[in-house]
Amino acid sequence: MTDQATTHEFQAETKKLLDIVINSLYTERDIFIRELISNSSDALEKMRHESLTQDNIFDDHVPLEVTIDLDEKKYTMTITDTGVGMTRAELETNLGTIAHSGSGNFVAELAEAARKDVSLIGQFGVGFYAAFMAGSKVTVQSRSWDGSEGNEWISDGSGSFTISECPGLHRGTRIVIDLKDDAHDYAQKWKVESIIKQYSTFVPFPIKLEGDTVNTVQAIWTRTKNEITDEEYNDFYKFVGNASDEPHYRLHFSVDAPLAINAVLFAPKENFESMGFGRVDPGVNLYCQRVLIDQHSENILPEWLRFLKGVVDSEDLPLNISRQALQDNALVMKLRKVITKRFLKFLAEEAKRDSDYYLDFWNTFGIYLKEGVTSDYEFQKELAQLVRFESSRSEDGKPTSLADYVERMGEGQEEIYYINGPNRAAIEAGPYVEMFNKKDIEIIYTMEPIDDFVLNHLGEFDGKKLVSADRADLDLSKSGDAEADEDKSKKLSSEASSELVTWLKKILDDKVADVIESKRLVDSPAMIVNPDGYMTSSMERIMAASRMEKGLAPEASKKNLEINLASPLIKQLADLVKSDESFATDVAAQIYDNAMIQAGLVVDPMVMVERNYKILNKAVGA
Ligand code: ADP
Ligand code: MG
Repeated sequence: MTDQATTHEFQAETKKLLDIVINSLYTERDIFIRELISNSSDALEKMRHESLTQDNIFDDHVPLEVTIDLDEKKYTMTITDTGVGMTRAELETNLGTIAHSGSGNFVAELAEAARKDVSLIGQFGVGFYAAFMAGSKVTVQSRSWDGSEGNEWISDGSGSFTISECPGLHRGTRIVIDLKDDAHDYAQKWKVESIIKQYSTFVPFPIKLEGDTVNTVQAIWTRTKNEITDEEYNDFYKFVGNASDEPHYRLHFSVDAPLAINAVLFAPKENFESMGFGRVDPGVNLYCQRVLIDQHSENILPEWLRFLKGVVDSEDLPLNISRQALQDNALVMKLRKVITKRFLKFLAEEAKRDSDYYLDFWNTFGIYLKEGVTSDYEFQKELAQLVRFESSRSEDGKPTSLADYVERMGEGQEEIYYINGPNRAAIEAGPYVEMFNKKDIEIIYTMEPIDDFVLNHLGEFDGKKLVSADRADLDLSKSGDAEADEDKSKKLSSEASSELVTWLKKILDDKVADVIESKRLVDSPAMIVNPDGYMTSSMERIMAASRMEKGLAPEASKKNLEINLASPLIKQLADLVKSDESFATDVAAQIYDNAMIQAGLVVDPMVMVERNYKILNKAVGA
């Protein structure tokens, strides 16, 4: 066969990535060794998995391992593995494009991270191209396990690469790096050894550096808990989680029934999604008897636990199961349920053990648990124990649990109340909490847009209904301090008030569903309430925004306006209707708009401001 060398351009995204890798990541250089060993490890894991089910494997006898050789005179590093190898076509695509899903985003986010803080790069895993951080030229010789002839890939990272035939190779991949002038120290054994110890201790295959095995290959999750040190756990976390810090929580558990499970799960300290880096991939790997079945598994935990890192190993899974089959495998679903419940139980215990430390976790990852409540009915009971909200009785910044709220409930109170608002101050200045304060009833403040959906999905806690305080049918008469109920003597007479209500209904007919006398306003003249018990103003606001995004007109449902017949403004209004109806009409419209704004709902600002000036002019006598 003639040696056909072909030249190929890197894909545009790859060129950008190479540019970042070569020019911006100088201080993070060491990670190129981790990336290449991790690729070798992946290739060896695949080989181990294939060899369980296939019988015509080329070079079947060679041991699964990684070998690293250094040349201190020629300044080269050679990393060899006996993994699955690559065919010519695989070399061309795998080492010419970026395999990451949504690669465009990936490179943009990486560039952003490199600009902000290069130490974040570790989290991304720049992959094979990291070889060009230290190499002026990279040569990859590879032969696939299918036995087809081997090939050699060569590039200096500047824009193109060549591939040519390379006969006589063993199965697997060899990468030769010609070290750059300022990277010669990577040809020293002590240096490379310390980097492997730092990043790659837990690779489950022997790593032989110039003949010496430098890692221990026993899987940490199969060892006895009390024989593992914190340091070993933390190192393992850094390894599986691509992390550079320590985890916030760690759970190592082993059970034999109903399924045999060994799992080590970590919750990180930081939430990368909230730092603007897009959706994170699941971080837990699924093993069966120490053989990797599914890396970054989407099946072993629910989506909303995607921030967790670690491993799950179950002997009960069939070793030869394919990734596609995992998706609706009954056993995997059972595993997911058992592991999820165990982890949520662990969180509940941790919350009890050290509530402040749990609050740190909640502040960072609570959003995921809320996502769990709204998307996954299966774990609602467990999740309801874990959610935290601020309330009229909680300290600023120290949210409370629903269980503690229930514990504090007074006699006669049968429901749990909440109200949404942008922040504590806004909620406390608004009309909805007036009667709660007066009657000394605790009310939860939901300050995140998703919160009302969360409580709405939960429906109840400990047998007590969760009720939004902007509901039209809210009844506080049986709860709290009875003496605090409205003082009838200060009110408008019943005749005058029914006249006023009738007039308001006529004036506001196109805006409200109904006008009613309020039993719960104390100082404010009016407020908006929702006749549809399942929809809160906050939910409606979000749904309107999402309709706008889709280019649809907002679909506002009509609200009820509750008026406070003891409020001086409302009492004066009753008289004004008789003396100056046109002015009274403006005042009524303004009261309605004010109440809408306090409910966080939209009014027409132009119309509102114009009317407001009209009223002010009258007030100053202009
Ligand atoms: P990732 O590991 O995230 O897929 P990389 O850039 O590290 O991305 O590697 C790209 C692809 O190249 C891998 O998915 C794999 O298919 C292939 N590859 C890299 N190194 C090896 C190797 N040592 N053996 C076999 N295939 C490899
Ligand atoms: Mg990789």
